[in-house]
Amino acid sequence: MTKISDILAAGPSYSFEFSPPRSAEAEAQFWVTVDELVPLAPSFFSVTYGAGGSTRELTRDLVTRINAEKGVTAMAHLTCAAHTRKELHDLIVSYRDGGVVENLLALGGDPPVGYDGPPGELEFADELVALVREVNDFSVGVAAHPEPHPRSASLTEDRAHTAAKLENADFAITQFFFDAHHYFDLVGTLAELGCDKPVIPGIMPVTTLGSIKRMTELQGSEFPGWFADRLYAVEDKGPEAVRAVGVSVAIDLCKELLDSGVPGLHFFAFNRATALAALEIHQSLDLGK
Ligand code: FAD
Repeated sequence: MTKISDILAAGPSYSFEFSPPRSAEAEAQFWVTVDELVPLAPSFFSVTYGAGGSTRELTRDLVTRINAEKGVTAMAHLTCAAHTRKELHDLIVSYRDGGVVENLLALGGDPPVGYDGPPGELEFADELVALVREVNDFSVGVAAHPEPHPRSASLTEDRAHTAAKLENADFAITQFFFDAHHYFDLVGTLAELGCDKPVIPGIMPVTTLGSIKRMTELQGSEFPGWFADRLYAVEDKGPEAVRAVGVSVAIDLCKELLDSGVPGLHFFAFNRATALAALEIHQSLDLGK
């Protein structure tokens, strides 16, 4: 499989992010979704990691299997929260020794809900990037937060930490946002700070009103008034009308980003509904093979 740093060097990437399935039924659905997206010839897939290790083996097994059997590069996410340094080291070594996975997304993570153990030996994602670098020559990505990250002391500090984190990483993928100016502000500030690593915008297809409210609260992202107005205006026409507005808004955002020369688009395809919406957006934009 290919390193994502090499994929990005060759041109824009179009990628999809999955969450690991939590039941046998969900796993069957997961592979159906993967098989539906493979014909789009995505640049890569990625699979999230349950902070604290709840999906430790599952994330590794899914990523290994996609790489080995589906002909698509797959990246594993990995988070610091609630892990010892040794646990993280051993997991990275298992990726290296497995010999299949070449790409890792190094994240801070959030402590799992209800977790009251120690916070984790590595505090910030930049320490995990350094640990990954010690173990092997993976292509390493990190998260970036256009709005910025909710635990940040200030926008300026978060931008500075992101620039510093990217010095040792190969690329970043952003948290979702609905107004492109947040992304342009992020990359503009990173450039002023001397950072020229690719920053791939993360695209969240909105399929229901409930999901956008939950997600924006959780991530500290803005649910812009203009977007709320458009969604509520069609609420009484039913879920399909709401979904159509969500897809249309995502298409317009992607066009604006593509026109500005972004290094790629990363679609959050966490569940069946968002995956199908992401598929529709990809096809509508004619991103091709
Ligand atoms: P960090 O880079 O550690 O930053 C966290 C906060 O600390 C920020 O406010 C930052 O400004 C500050 N900070 C950073 N470095 C320093 C420093 N050296 N000194 C002081 N302050 C510092 N979560 C999961 O649990 N599993 C996943 O698979 C997952 N995948 C994700 C994929 C993407 C594309 C994105 C954008 C997020 C993902 N997340 C995932 C969520 C992420 O783990 C959370 O947003 C987390 O709270 C922060 O992660 P980070 O890597 O940005 O952390």
